[in-house]
Amino acid sequence: MPNSQASLLSDASKRLAKALEHVEISEDAIARLQHPKTSLSVSIPVRMDDGSLKVFPGYRVRYDDTRGAGKGGVRYHPGVSLDEVQSLAFWMTFKCALLDLPFGGAKGGITVNPKELSKAELERLSRGYIDAIADAIGIDIDILAPDVYTNAVIMGWMMDRYSTIQRKLCRGVVTGKPLALGGSKGRDTATAMGAFTVIEAMLSKFELAPNETTVAIQGFGNAGATLAGFLADAGYKIVAVSDSKGGIYAPQGLDIDSVTKHKEQSREMKAVYCQDTVCSIVEHQVISNEELLALDVDVLIPAALENQITQANAQDIKAKYIFEVANGPISSDADEILAKRETYIFPDILVNAGGVTVSYFEWVQNRSGWYWTLEEVNQRLQVKMKEEAEQVWKISQDKAIALRTAAYVHALSRLGEALDAKGDRDYFVG
Ligand code: NAD
Repeated sequence: MPNSQASLLSDASKRLAKALEHVEISEDAIARLQHPKTSLSVSIPVRMDDGSLKVFPGYRVRYDDTRGAGKGGVRYHPGVSLDEVQSLAFWMTFKCALLDLPFGGAKGGITVNPKELSKAELERLSRGYIDAIADAIGIDIDILAPDVYTNAVIMGWMMDRYSTIQRKLCRGVVTGKPLALGGSKGRDTATAMGAFTVIEAMLSKFELAPNETTVAIQGFGNAGATLAGFLADAGYKIVAVSDSKGGIYAPQGLDIDSVTKHKEQSREMKAVYCQDTVCSIVEHQVISNEELLALDVDVLIPAALENQITQANAQDIKAKYIFEVANGPISSDADEILAKRETYIFPDILVNAGGVTVSYFEWVQNRSGWYWTLEEVNQRLQVKMKEEAEQVWKISQDKAIALRTAAYVHALSRLGEALDAKGDRDYFVG
């Protein structure tokens, strides 16, 4: 790996090494997959509202584009680093191959705490980011999308800025846009809908009835809160949820609709039950994120940030089934500890792939100018997620390997085929 300090990326490559033991793939293909194709670091000067100038570090990494243009979100977070963005781009490469989308893997990010910026500053930062990376992206080169602390509004600004630079409308360069700017129906709920489809398909193998299944969800943002709603509607007992400030735990189950409404209104996570506009607090415990992860529940869903379950706390995890909605929430050391306890870990590259799948649908719709109904989007998404989840399950059973390794094996076989078919033409031009 290119960066010796690259803890996340080298952790990700340990997963790759494990999967390579179970798949036939050429040495050439393996060598290429060890390194990101392009890693761009930029500095983004932003005029702040008080007249001062601040410069923010930004990144865009295209890990591999053999199967198609790079595809990946843009993250705004104080912890963003080149290592993190490279790891996320690596995961995107495997995720797109796993879902058989005609994309390679990419990712971007800015090291910033967006909560400290005004809306106008955020807009200048987002447009400045596109100015800085414009030469490295494009409809057939690398396509952006939302990730942690970025949203449809920001995607709209980015698409608009890129179109201004190109002197033509370039809707397909960014997905996750507002509907009015060419977004897809169902994109806002796609990650959660994809995860829900995988959870339903996989838990049915263990004959777990929803109303007897307790669930804890870490992270109550776009993915976590929407998924909590789908699971609650299907009858699952959501006993704990959390955000960056901490969590709430109610063994009798939380009313997710009420918790969501209350959070939208007050920005606070509270265990409440609302009737119309009146909300009353129900019996619950206030817990930390660490405590949420260690709860005695059937299903644990990390849906916040990476590296939440590591060697330090893996032995405390009691859930039998973990569905990774966040990217990389479990370190490879923790995988080993959890494997000994026979925990089923359904990996991020499968579980959270609904977002990129509907991003692909959005890109297709932008290119064709033919827009689909919500039912069409969700139906196509569910078919795809279920199909690939069943394949991963089958590989895991047939080869007696962990579900994560099976997912990498499945993606690697597609990636290897494409890399070998492409051959060395890039390297012998002229
Ligand atoms: P988001 O910004 O909407 O929400 C993130 C949530 O995590 C918030 O509730 C925040 O308060 C919480 N959080 C932040 N730091 C935390 C901490 N230290 N402990 C506990 N909670 C914390 O982001 P999102 O879009 O929901 O993404 C969440 C995860 O899912 C990320 O890992 C992201 O990469 C992954 N993901 C999201 C999508 C998508 O389409 N939204 C797609 C694929 C993967």
